[in-house]
Amino acid sequence: MFIQLEALLGGAIERIPLDYEFDFSAEEFGGVFPFTTPVILKGEIRNTAGIVTIEAKAQFSMEVTCDRCAEDIRPEFTVDIEHGLVASLNHEDNDDYILVEDMKLDVEQLTLEDIYLALPGKFLCKEDCKGLCSECGANLNESSCDCKKPIDPRWAALFD
Ligand SMILES: [Zn+2]
Ligand SMILES: [Zn+2]
Repeated sequence: MFIQLEALLGGAIERIPLDYEFDFSAEEFGGVFPFTTPVILKGEIRNTAGIVTIEAKAQFSMEVTCDRCAEDIRPEFTVDIEHGLVASLNHEDNDDYILVEDMKLDVEQLTLEDIYLALPGKFLCKEDCKGLCSECGANLNESSCDCKKPIDPRWAALFD
């Protein structure tokens, strides 16, 4: 999904609105394909006195499992897509700038990269998920069991 930036970079227009739905269902993350619904991208690319920036938000949910209790969950995320865009990297040796080659920006690829950078390494159904009993496998959020007292989940988090 390339966006032509020639008119914007040249100053002929000041803004390009962004309103897209991207299908990332074929994209793998952590061994699964969690993007089962479209990623919504809204925002704009604009030229403010020669400074070209993209400012957008990607909104989506993912189908994943809780890393402690293995419940299926569908957390929602909003990821900011904010960068300066330049046609050549002469003086800007800054990671926040993106080099736009041939006046074209692959906004779909940029969105996917920013999402991957922003996602947490772990998903939890809730902050204080108690997880599963290591002895009997009971979901300790739903029931207690008669096994010996489990390790405090805050300590268990250090070991899983
Ligand atoms: Zn959980
Ligand atoms: Zn148990």
